[in-house]
Amino acid sequence: MQTHQYDVVIVGAGGAGMRAALESSTRARTAVLSKLYPTRSHTGAAQGGMCAALGNVEEDNWEWHTFDTVKGGDYLVDQDAAEVMAKEAIDAVLDLEHMGLPFNRTPDGKIDQRRFGGHTRNHGEAAVRRACYAADRTGHMILQTLYQQCVKQDVAFFNEVYALDLLLTHDLMAGDVPADEEVKVAGVVAHDLATGELHVFRAKSVILATGGAGKIYKTTSNAHTLTGDGMALAYRKGIPLEDMEFFQFHPTGLAGLGILLSEAARGEGGILRNSEGERFMERYAPTIKDLAPRDMVARAMANEVREGRGCGPNKDYVLLDLTHLEPAHIDAKLPDITEFARTYLGVEPYTEPVPVYPTAHYAMGGVPTTIRGEVLRTNTAVVGGLYAAGEVACVSVHGANRLGTNSLLDINVFGKRAGIAAAEYSAAAELPELPESPGAAVTALLDRVLGGDGTEKVAVLRRELQEAMDAGAQVFRTAESLEATLATIGSLKERYASVAVQDKGKQFNTDLLEAVELGFLLDLAEVVVVGALAREESRGGHFREDFPARDDARFLQHTMAYLRQAPDGGTQVELGAKPVTITRYQPMERKY
Ligand SMILES: Cc1cc2nc3c(=O)[nH]c(=O)nc-3n(C[C@H](O)[C@H](O)[C@H](O)COP(=O)(O)OP(=O)(O)OC[C@H]3O[C@@H](n4cnc5c(N)ncnc54)[C@H](O)[C@@H]3O)c2cc1C
Repeated sequence: MQTHQYDVVIVGAGGAGMRAALESSTRARTAVLSKLYPTRSHTGAAQGGMCAALGNVEEDNWEWHTFDTVKGGDYLVDQDAAEVMAKEAIDAVLDLEHMGLPFNRTPDGKIDQRRFGGHTRNHGEAAVRRACYAADRTGHMILQTLYQQCVKQDVAFFNEVYALDLLLTHDLMAGDVPADEEVKVAGVVAHDLATGELHVFRAKSVILATGGAGKIYKTTSNAHTLTGDGMALAYRKGIPLEDMEFFQFHPTGLAGLGILLSEAARGEGGILRNSEGERFMERYAPTIKDLAPRDMVARAMANEVREGRGCGPNKDYVLLDLTHLEPAHIDAKLPDITEFARTYLGVEPYTEPVPVYPTAHYAMGGVPTTIRGEVLRTNTAVVGGLYAAGEVACVSVHGANRLGTNSLLDINVFGKRAGIAAAEYSAAAELPELPESPGAAVTALLDRVLGGDGTEKVAVLRRELQEAMDAGAQVFRTAESLEATLATIGSLKERYASVAVQDKGKQFNTDLLEAVELGFLLDLAEVVVVGALAREESRGGHFREDFPARDDARFLQHTMAYLRQAPDGGTQVELGAKPVTITRYQPMERKY
C-alpha cells in the first residue's frame, strides 16, 4: 500500500473538482483523484446552459435571479447561499470566458443568453434570457476548458483511482462526539483501477466533488458512474446527508430511455403537447407555460398521462414539438439533442414531435456545507479540513427543486469557493495523524466481495433497486408506495451481503467496483425513501399524493439524515432537522 501526502486532495474531476483545483493548486500542494478520466465526467454531458444575470440581451439583475432560485426551490433554499451564487454568477461566467470558453455570441459580440425554466424578469413577470450557452454542449465546453487550464497549471491528477474511504480523526457513528470537539479529516483511501492496489492519500484538506447519484433510479439522464460515492463515503462515517428526498425529475427524457433532451429545447420555443395536440402547460402555469420549473412540468406531464391524454400505443408519454422552428435554428442551437432523437428514437424533429417523459436527473440533497464549502457534521459544527462542492453537496442553493442552468453555475461558484477555503485551511493546519491501519476497512470490503462464494449478482440487485425506486419514489409518492420501496431496499441490502463477482482478478476489475458502487446506491436509496416518508407534505420535487399541500408549519426545514449504530448492533437511519435560512423572501404560494 502506497502512502501519498498532499495539502489538499480533491476527489472528483468534474466541473466542481477542477474549478476547485484551479484555485487550490496555486495556493497549496494539490492532488485530484478521479475514478474517470477527467473529461469523461458527467459535467461534460450538460447541455443547455449556465445562468448569470449578465443582462446582455434583456434587462436582468442578480436580485431577480436570487428570487427565482428561492421560489423555484419552493422556499427550502438557504437564501444567504442563493444570494452568494446569483451575485458571483457574473464573475463565474466571465472567468470561463477569459479561460477561452467558446460561448455563443450576440450579433454585437457579447455572450448570448437564452430562456430557461423558472428564470424570470421582475419576480415572475415574464421569462428572461439568463442562460449563457455554447449550443447544446455547454457542459462539454466547461469541462474541456477547465481541464485545459488544469493541465496548463500542472495539477497532479490520479485518474481511474476510486476513493473508497474517508479518514477522520474521530468515529462519529455512535453520535456521542460533543459539538465543540475538533473533528478533522485526515485523508482518503483509494483503489487504483489499473493495478488493484490501495493508496492512502494523507491530506490536511479534502474536497468531495464526486457528483450525483442518479443511478438509484432506472429511468435517468445520469451516466452509469453517478453512484453517489462521495455522499455515501461521508454518510458511512456518520456525517449527515441533507434533503435527500428531493430528487429532480427532468421533464424531457426520451420516452422509455431517459436520455436527456435539454430544457433549452423549450427555451428556444419547443412546446409540450398531449394526445389531443393541446399545449397543456397553459393550464398548469398560465404565465410562463412550458418554461415553468421542472417539478411542475414533470408533474403536469405525469398527470396528463394518468388522465388518459398520453401519446403512443400505450399512451405513456407526451410530445415535445419543435416542428414550428426553422431547421436552421434547430441546427444552430440544438444540434446534439435533435441528433439523439434521430439516433435513439428514429424521430426527425424538423417534422415530427419527439416522445418524452420525466427522467431522474439531479440530487438536490447531499453532503451539507456552509457557503464556504465546509462540511457540517451537525447543524453547526464542521469537520475541520473537509469540504464538498457540486452535485455531491447541499449548500443549499436548490432547496426542493433546482432551476435549470443553476447547477453548472453552482459547480463553478462553490467549486471555486471550496478550492480557496481548502487551500487556506491547509496553510494553517497540521497534518492529522492517520487512524491505525487506514486501509483495513476497504481491504475487508473488497476481500468480502472477491472472496465471497455468494450467489447474488450485482446487475440483478441493481436492476431491482432501480425498478423499486422508479415504482415507489418517483414524481408521485404515497406512504404506501414508499413503504413498499423501503421494504424492497431492506431485502436487497440483506441479499447484498452475499453478492459475488465473476472477475476475481486485480487489474481493471470493474466488476468489483460496481459491487462497491451498488452498496453506495443501496445506502442512498434508503436515505431518500426514509426522508420522503417522514416528509408528510408536498414541496418542489417531492410530491406526496397523500399530503398534496406544502406544510410550512411542520416542514419548512431541512432534513438531516444520520447513519447511526442501532441497538441490535447494526446501523439505522436517524432523522433530524435544520432550520432554513430566510433573509429577504418570506415563503409565498408558488404560482407561475
Ligand atoms: C445529461 C445532463 C445534462 C445536464 N445539463 C445541465 C445544464 O445544461 N445546465 C446545468 O446547470 N446543469 C446541467 N446538468 C447537471 C450538471 O451537469 C451536474 O449537476 C454537474 O455537472 C455536476 O458536476 P460535478 O462536478 O458535481 O460532478 P461530475 O461532473 O459528475 O463529476 C464527478 C467526478 O467525481 C469523480 N468521482 C466520483 N466518484 C468517485 C470516487 N469514488 N473516487 C474518485 N472519483 C470519483 C468522477 O470521476 C468525476 O470526475 C446536466 C446533467 C446531465 C446528467
